[in-house]
Amino acid sequence: MEIQEKVELLGRAAALDCDGPVRLSRQEHKTQFLRHSRAFVTHPQKGKMPLMRTMLTSACERNCYYCPFQAGRNYRRVSFQPAELAQAFDDMQRKKLVDGLFLSSGIVGGGARAMDGMLDTVDILRREYEYSGYIHLKVMPGAETAQIERAARLADRLSINLEGANAERLARLAPKKDYWQELLPPLYWVRQHRHTLEPWVKLPSLTTQFVVGPAGESDHELLTTTISLYRQAGLARAYYSAFGPVAGTPFAHKPKTSPLREHRLYQADWLLRFYGFQLKELPFDSRGHLPLDADPKLMWAQTHLRHAPVELNRAGRRRLLRVPGIGPKTADAILAARRQGRLRNLHHLRQIGVQTGRAAPFILLDGKMPEYQLTLPLAG
Ligand code: SF4
Repeated sequence: MEIQEKVELLGRAAALDCDGPVRLSRQEHKTQFLRHSRAFVTHPQKGKMPLMRTMLTSACERNCYYCPFQAGRNYRRVSFQPAELAQAFDDMQRKKLVDGLFLSSGIVGGGARAMDGMLDTVDILRREYEYSGYIHLKVMPGAETAQIERAARLADRLSINLEGANAERLARLAPKKDYWQELLPPLYWVRQHRHTLEPWVKLPSLTTQFVVGPAGESDHELLTTTISLYRQAGLARAYYSAFGPVAGTPFAHKPKTSPLREHRLYQADWLLRFYGFQLKELPFDSRGHLPLDADPKLMWAQTHLRHAPVELNRAGRRRLLRVPGIGPKTADAILAARRQGRLRNLHHLRQIGVQTGRAAPFILLDGKMPEYQLTLPLAG
Protein backbone atom coordinates (compact mmCIF):
# COMPACT_ATOMS: atom_id res chain seq x y z
CA MET A 1 0.00 0.00 0.00
CA GLU A 2 1.28 3.48 -0.86
CA ILE A 3 2.33 5.68 2.05
CA GLN A 4 -0.11 8.39 0.99
CA GLU A 5 -2.96 5.90 1.11
CA LYS A 6 -1.90 4.88 4.62
CA VAL A 7 -1.76 8.51 5.68
CA GLU A 8 -5.31 8.95 4.41
CA LEU A 9 -6.62 5.75 6.04
CA LEU A 10 -4.89 6.20 9.37
CA GLY A 11 -5.77 9.90 9.45
CA ARG A 12 -9.39 8.89 8.99
CA ALA A 13 -8.98 6.30 11.76
CA ALA A 14 -7.44 8.88 14.10
CA ALA A 15 -10.42 11.15 13.47
CA LEU A 16 -12.69 8.36 14.74
CA ASP A 17 -10.42 7.90 17.73
CA CYS A 18 -11.91 11.13 19.00
CA ASP A 19 -9.76 13.10 21.38
CA GLY A 20 -10.22 16.65 22.45
CA PRO A 21 -6.97 18.43 21.68
CA VAL A 22 -7.64 18.76 17.99
CA ARG A 23 -10.78 19.45 16.07
CA LEU A 24 -11.08 18.33 12.51
CA SER A 25 -11.90 21.18 10.19
CA ARG A 26 -13.15 19.64 6.99
CA GLN A 27 -13.59 23.00 5.30
CA GLU A 28 -9.96 23.80 5.76
CA HIS A 29 -8.58 20.66 4.15
CA LYS A 30 -7.06 21.66 0.87
CA THR A 31 -6.71 18.32 -0.88
CA GLN A 32 -8.19 14.84 -0.85
CA PHE A 33 -4.85 13.65 0.50
CA LEU A 34 -5.30 15.81 3.56
CA ARG A 35 -8.98 15.30 4.14
CA HIS A 36 -8.63 13.11 7.19
CA SER A 37 -4.98 13.39 8.05
CA ARG A 38 -4.80 16.99 9.13
CA ALA A 39 -6.38 18.70 12.09
CA PHE A 40 -5.76 21.89 13.99
CA VAL A 41 -4.62 22.76 17.47
CA THR A 42 -4.20 26.17 19.07
CA HIS A 43 -0.68 26.68 20.32
CA PRO A 44 -0.21 29.34 23.04
CA GLN A 45 2.64 31.04 21.15
CA LYS A 46 2.12 30.07 17.51
CA GLY A 47 -1.68 30.30 17.35
CA LYS A 48 -3.60 27.89 15.13
CA MET A 49 -1.37 25.08 13.86
CA PRO A 50 -2.22 22.38 11.32
CA LEU A 51 -1.39 19.02 12.89
CA MET A 52 -0.87 15.68 11.24
CA ARG A 53 -3.15 13.49 13.27
CA THR A 54 -2.62 9.80 12.79
CA MET A 55 -2.28 6.34 14.33
CA LEU A 56 0.69 4.02 14.03
CA THR A 57 -1.75 1.18 13.57
CA SER A 58 -5.51 0.77 13.60
CA ALA A 59 -5.14 -2.89 14.62
CA CYS A 60 -5.89 -3.60 18.28
CA GLU A 61 -6.06 -6.62 20.56
CA ARG A 62 -8.18 -4.95 23.24
CA ASN A 63 -11.95 -4.83 23.42
CA CYS A 64 -12.97 -1.39 24.65
CA TYR A 65 -16.72 -1.54 24.10
CA TYR A 66 -17.09 1.94 22.58
CA CYS A 67 -14.12 1.80 20.22
CA PRO A 68 -14.22 1.34 16.43
CA PHE A 69 -10.82 -0.40 16.55
CA GLN A 70 -11.68 -3.05 19.12
CA ALA A 71 -10.45 -6.57 18.40
CA GLY A 72 -12.75 -8.66 16.26
CA ARG A 73 -14.67 -5.80 14.70
CA ASN A 74 -14.89 -5.95 10.93
CA TYR A 75 -12.67 -3.01 10.06
CA ARG A 76 -9.84 -2.60 7.57
CA ARG A 77 -6.63 -2.42 9.62
CA VAL A 78 -3.61 -0.45 8.45
CA SER A 79 -0.19 -0.01 10.03
CA PHE A 80 2.88 2.16 9.54
CA GLN A 81 6.43 1.21 10.33
CA PRO A 82 8.01 3.95 12.48
CA ALA A 83 10.47 4.97 9.73
CA GLU A 84 7.66 5.08 7.19
CA LEU A 85 5.49 7.34 9.31
CA ALA A 86 8.42 9.60 10.21
CA GLN A 87 9.18 9.99 6.51
CA ALA A 88 5.53 10.73 5.66
CA PHE A 89 5.37 13.37 8.38
CA ASP A 90 8.68 14.93 7.33
CA ASP A 91 7.43 15.13 3.76
CA MET A 92 4.19 16.89 4.77
CA GLN A 93 6.02 19.17 7.17
CA ARG A 94 8.57 20.24 4.53
CA LYS A 95 5.72 21.04 2.17
CA LYS A 96 4.31 23.19 4.99
CA LEU A 97 1.09 21.19 5.00
CA VAL A 98 1.41 20.40 8.70
CA ASP A 99 3.31 21.84 11.64
CA GLY A 100 2.95 19.31 14.41
CA LEU A 101 2.11 15.68 15.02
CA PHE A 102 -0.56 14.03 17.14
CA LEU A 103 0.24 10.33 17.30
CA SER A 104 -1.93 7.57 18.70
CA SER A 105 -2.09 3.82 18.11
CA GLY A 106 -3.97 0.59 18.58
CA ILE A 107 -2.30 -2.09 20.68
CA VAL A 108 -0.79 -5.26 19.23
CA GLY A 109 1.56 -7.38 21.34
CA GLY A 110 0.96 -5.35 24.51
CA GLY A 111 0.94 -1.67 25.42
CA ALA A 112 4.72 -1.54 25.84
CA ARG A 113 5.30 -2.77 22.31
CA ALA A 114 2.82 -0.29 20.86
CA MET A 115 4.47 2.48 22.86
CA ASP A 116 7.89 1.46 21.55
CA GLY A 117 6.70 1.88 17.99
CA MET A 118 5.34 5.36 18.71
CA LEU A 119 8.50 6.39 20.57
CA ASP A 120 10.69 5.08 17.76
CA THR A 121 8.70 7.17 15.28
CA VAL A 122 9.17 10.31 17.32
CA ASP A 123 12.80 9.50 18.02
CA ILE A 124 13.48 9.26 14.27
CA LEU A 125 11.76 12.59 13.75
CA ARG A 126 13.72 14.32 16.50
CA ARG A 127 17.14 12.78 15.73
CA GLU A 128 17.24 11.98 12.02
CA TYR A 129 14.94 14.66 10.66
CA GLU A 130 15.89 17.13 13.41
CA TYR A 131 12.25 18.08 13.83
CA SER A 132 11.89 20.35 16.85
CA GLY A 133 8.22 21.28 16.50
CA TYR A 134 5.10 20.24 18.38
CA ILE A 135 4.48 16.56 19.12
CA HIS A 136 1.54 15.17 21.09
CA LEU A 137 1.79 11.51 22.04
CA LYS A 138 -0.88 9.30 23.49
CA VAL A 139 0.55 7.10 26.25
CA MET A 140 -0.57 3.53 25.71
CA PRO A 141 -2.18 1.60 28.55
CA GLY A 142 0.52 -0.79 29.70
CA ALA A 143 3.41 1.54 28.83
CA GLU A 144 6.42 1.01 31.09
CA THR A 145 7.94 3.64 33.35
CA ALA A 146 11.08 3.98 31.21
CA GLN A 147 8.86 4.58 28.18
CA ILE A 148 6.95 7.34 29.94
CA GLU A 149 10.25 8.97 30.80
CA ARG A 150 11.33 8.68 27.16
CA ALA A 151 8.00 10.13 26.05
CA ALA A 152 8.41 13.03 28.48
CA ARG A 153 11.74 13.87 26.84
CA LEU A 154 10.43 13.66 23.28
CA ALA A 155 6.91 15.11 23.35
CA ASP A 156 5.38 18.50 24.12
CA ARG A 157 2.12 16.99 25.28
CA LEU A 158 1.14 13.56 26.60
CA SER A 159 -2.40 12.28 26.81
CA ILE A 160 -3.31 9.43 29.11
CA ASN A 161 -6.98 8.75 28.64
CA LEU A 162 -8.78 7.52 31.73
CA GLU A 163 -11.98 6.99 29.69
CA GLY A 164 -14.01 6.28 32.86
CA ALA A 165 -14.55 8.58 35.85
CA ASN A 166 -13.17 5.90 38.15
CA ALA A 167 -12.17 2.22 38.17
CA GLU A 168 -15.74 0.98 38.41
CA ARG A 169 -16.89 3.07 35.44
CA LEU A 170 -13.85 2.10 33.39
CA ALA A 171 -14.63 -1.59 33.94
CA ARG A 172 -17.99 -1.02 32.24
CA LEU A 173 -16.32 0.61 29.25
CA ALA A 174 -13.05 -1.21 28.74
CA PRO A 175 -12.68 -4.38 30.83
CA LYS A 176 -9.10 -4.99 29.70
CA LYS A 177 -7.86 -1.60 30.84
CA ASP A 178 -6.59 -1.35 34.40
CA TYR A 179 -7.39 2.00 36.02
CA TRP A 180 -5.03 1.65 38.98
CA GLN A 181 -2.10 -0.08 37.30
CA GLU A 182 -2.11 1.19 33.72
CA LEU A 183 -3.79 4.58 33.60
CA LEU A 184 -3.41 6.56 36.82
CA PRO A 185 0.35 6.02 37.44
CA PRO A 186 1.47 7.61 34.13
CA LEU A 187 -0.73 10.62 34.87
CA TYR A 188 1.13 11.18 38.12
CA TRP A 189 4.54 10.24 36.77
CA VAL A 190 5.56 13.63 35.35
CA ARG A 191 4.90 15.54 38.56
CA GLN A 192 6.42 12.85 40.78
CA HIS A 193 9.55 12.29 38.68
CA ARG A 194 10.34 15.70 37.29
CA HIS A 195 13.54 15.67 39.37
CA THR A 196 14.83 12.66 37.38
CA LEU A 197 14.79 14.70 34.17
CA GLU A 198 17.59 17.09 33.37
CA PRO A 199 16.74 20.71 34.18
CA TRP A 200 16.73 21.69 30.49
CA VAL A 201 14.06 19.12 29.62
CA LYS A 202 10.79 20.99 29.18
CA LEU A 203 8.10 18.96 30.89
CA PRO A 204 5.25 17.94 28.61
CA SER A 205 1.75 19.09 29.44
CA LEU A 206 -0.76 16.38 30.36
CA THR A 207 -4.28 15.76 29.18
CA THR A 208 -6.87 13.08 29.71
CA GLN A 209 -10.18 12.19 28.13
CA PHE A 210 -13.44 10.66 29.30
CA VAL A 211 -16.05 8.82 27.29
CA VAL A 212 -19.22 10.44 28.61
CA GLY A 213 -22.42 8.47 28.98
CA PRO A 214 -22.37 4.73 28.41
CA ALA A 215 -20.86 3.78 31.79
CA GLY A 216 -23.70 5.56 33.61
CA GLU A 217 -21.39 7.94 35.48
CA SER A 218 -22.65 11.24 36.87
CA ASP A 219 -21.25 14.65 36.02
CA HIS A 220 -20.26 14.94 39.68
CA GLU A 221 -18.14 11.78 39.40
CA LEU A 222 -16.39 13.06 36.27
CA LEU A 223 -15.67 16.49 37.71
CA THR A 224 -14.52 15.04 41.05
CA THR A 225 -11.87 13.07 39.20
CA THR A 226 -10.74 15.92 36.98
CA ILE A 227 -10.50 18.45 39.77
CA SER A 228 -8.24 16.11 41.72
CA LEU A 229 -6.09 15.57 38.63
CA TYR A 230 -5.80 19.32 38.05
CA ARG A 231 -4.68 19.78 41.63
CA GLN A 232 -2.59 16.70 42.28
CA ALA A 233 -1.21 15.59 38.92
CA GLY A 234 -0.83 18.98 37.28
CA LEU A 235 -3.24 18.00 34.52
CA ALA A 236 -3.42 20.73 31.86
CA ARG A 237 -6.78 19.78 30.46
CA ALA A 238 -9.53 17.18 30.57
CA TYR A 239 -11.63 16.38 27.53
CA TYR A 240 -15.19 15.14 27.77
CA SER A 241 -16.22 13.17 24.73
CA ALA A 242 -19.96 12.61 24.34
CA PHE A 243 -20.45 8.96 23.43
CA GLY A 244 -21.74 8.04 19.99
CA PRO A 245 -22.55 4.39 19.25
CA VAL A 246 -20.41 2.59 16.65
CA ALA A 247 -21.94 -0.22 14.59
CA GLY A 248 -20.41 -3.62 15.23
CA THR A 249 -19.33 -2.85 18.81
CA PRO A 250 -20.96 -4.10 22.05
CA PHE A 251 -22.19 -0.54 22.64
CA ALA A 252 -23.84 -0.21 19.23
CA HIS A 253 -27.27 -0.27 20.91
CA LYS A 254 -26.46 2.35 23.58
CA PRO A 255 -28.03 5.79 23.20
CA LYS A 256 -25.95 8.68 21.94
CA THR A 257 -24.96 11.12 24.68
CA SER A 258 -26.32 14.62 24.21
CA PRO A 259 -23.64 17.05 23.02
CA LEU A 260 -25.24 19.50 25.44
CA ARG A 261 -24.06 17.33 28.33
CA GLU A 262 -20.53 17.56 27.00
CA HIS A 263 -20.95 21.35 26.73
CA ARG A 264 -22.19 21.66 30.34
CA LEU A 265 -19.24 19.60 31.56
CA TYR A 266 -16.82 21.95 29.80
CA GLN A 267 -18.62 24.97 31.28
CA ALA A 268 -18.39 23.47 34.76
CA ASP A 269 -14.75 22.49 34.23
CA TRP A 270 -13.94 26.13 33.32
CA LEU A 271 -15.78 27.42 36.35
CA LEU A 272 -13.65 25.16 38.54
CA ARG A 273 -10.37 26.00 36.84
CA PHE A 274 -10.62 29.68 35.97
CA TYR A 275 -13.52 31.20 37.90
CA GLY A 276 -12.76 30.13 41.46
CA PHE A 277 -15.84 27.91 41.86
CA GLN A 278 -15.83 24.92 44.21
CA LEU A 279 -17.37 21.62 43.13
CA LYS A 280 -20.01 21.88 45.87
CA GLU A 281 -21.20 25.21 44.47
CA LEU A 282 -22.20 23.76 41.11
CA PRO A 283 -25.93 23.10 40.62
CA PHE A 284 -25.96 19.29 40.50
CA ASP A 285 -29.31 17.55 40.70
CA SER A 286 -30.03 14.66 43.08
CA ARG A 287 -28.38 12.21 40.63
CA GLY A 288 -25.21 14.28 40.42
CA HIS A 289 -25.94 15.68 36.97
CA LEU A 290 -25.74 19.28 35.80
CA PRO A 291 -29.01 20.55 34.32
CA LEU A 292 -28.92 20.40 30.54
CA ASP A 293 -31.23 23.36 30.05
CA ALA A 294 -29.24 25.89 32.04
CA ASP A 295 -25.77 27.37 32.09
CA PRO A 296 -24.33 26.40 35.53
CA LYS A 297 -22.93 29.87 36.18
CA LEU A 298 -26.24 31.53 35.36
CA MET A 299 -28.02 29.08 37.66
CA TRP A 300 -25.63 29.89 40.48
CA ALA A 301 -26.13 33.61 39.92
CA GLN A 302 -29.93 33.23 39.93
CA THR A 303 -29.70 31.75 43.40
CA HIS A 304 -26.91 33.83 44.89
CA LEU A 305 -26.76 37.20 43.13
CA ARG A 306 -30.41 38.01 42.41
CA HIS A 307 -30.79 39.64 45.82
CA ALA A 308 -27.12 40.47 46.35
CA PRO A 309 -25.92 42.04 43.08
CA VAL A 310 -22.24 42.78 42.58
CA GLU A 311 -21.08 46.41 42.67
CA LEU A 312 -18.82 46.62 39.66
CA ASN A 313 -17.07 49.77 40.86
CA ARG A 314 -15.86 48.06 44.03
CA ALA A 315 -15.83 44.25 43.68
CA GLY A 316 -12.55 42.33 43.61
CA ARG A 317 -11.61 40.00 40.76
CA ARG A 318 -12.98 36.84 42.42
CA ARG A 319 -16.34 38.47 42.99
CA LEU A 320 -16.46 39.90 39.45
CA LEU A 321 -15.88 36.40 38.06
CA ARG A 322 -19.12 35.26 39.67
CA VAL A 323 -21.18 37.50 37.40
CA PRO A 324 -22.57 35.89 34.21
CA GLY A 325 -21.16 37.67 31.18
CA ILE A 326 -17.87 38.43 32.90
CA GLY A 327 -14.90 36.14 32.29
CA PRO A 328 -11.25 36.35 33.36
CA LYS A 329 -10.27 38.79 30.58
CA THR A 330 -13.32 40.97 31.14
CA ALA A 331 -12.74 41.01 34.89
CA ASP A 332 -9.21 42.28 34.22
CA ALA A 333 -10.60 44.86 31.78
CA ILE A 334 -13.03 46.09 34.46
CA LEU A 335 -10.22 46.45 37.00
CA ALA A 336 -8.12 48.35 34.42
CA ALA A 337 -11.06 50.60 33.46
CA ARG A 338 -11.71 51.39 37.12
CA ARG A 339 -8.20 52.77 37.42
CA GLN A 340 -9.19 55.36 34.77
CA GLY A 341 -12.52 56.34 36.34
CA ARG A 342 -15.90 55.04 37.40
CA LEU A 343 -18.00 52.61 35.42
CA ARG A 344 -21.28 54.40 34.78
CA ASN A 345 -23.46 52.54 32.30
CA LEU A 346 -24.03 49.39 30.25
CA HIS A 347 -22.63 51.04 27.13
CA HIS A 348 -19.30 51.50 28.89
CA LEU A 349 -19.38 47.88 30.09
CA ARG A 350 -20.13 46.62 26.58
CA GLN A 351 -17.13 48.55 25.27
CA ILE A 352 -14.78 46.68 27.59
CA GLY A 353 -16.23 43.28 26.71
CA VAL A 354 -18.93 42.59 29.32
CA GLN A 355 -21.89 40.61 27.96
CA THR A 356 -24.33 43.06 29.40
CA GLY A 357 -27.44 41.06 28.50
CA ARG A 358 -26.27 38.34 30.88
CA ALA A 359 -24.59 40.52 33.48
CA ALA A 360 -27.16 43.31 33.95
CA PRO A 361 -29.58 41.51 36.33
CA PHE A 362 -26.75 40.76 38.73
CA ILE A 363 -24.80 44.01 38.97
CA LEU A 364 -24.88 47.49 40.46
CA LEU A 365 -23.15 50.61 39.15
CA ASP A 366 -22.58 53.04 42.00
CA GLY A 367 -25.33 51.41 44.00
CA LYS A 368 -27.91 51.41 41.20
CA MET A 369 -29.09 48.52 39.08
CA PRO A 370 -28.63 49.41 35.41
CA GLU A 371 -31.68 49.45 33.19
CA TYR A 372 -31.93 46.40 30.99
CA GLN A 373 -34.52 44.54 28.98
CA LEU A 374 -35.98 41.69 31.00
CA THR A 375 -35.05 38.77 28.76
CA LEU A 376 -33.05 36.24 30.67
CA PRO A 377 -32.14 33.17 28.66
CA LEU A 378 -31.12 30.29 30.90
CA ALA A 379 -29.48 28.21 28.21
CA GLY A 380 -25.81 29.09 27.88
S1 SF4 B 1 -6.98 0.06 23.40
FE1 SF4 B 1 -9.21 0.21 23.39
S2 SF4 B 1 -9.58 2.39 22.90
FE2 SF4 B 1 -7.45 1.95 22.29
S3 SF4 B 1 -7.58 1.37 20.14
FE3 SF4 B 1 -7.67 -0.53 21.33
S4 SF4 B 1 -9.84 -0.97 21.60
FE4 SF4 B 1 -9.63 1.18 20.96
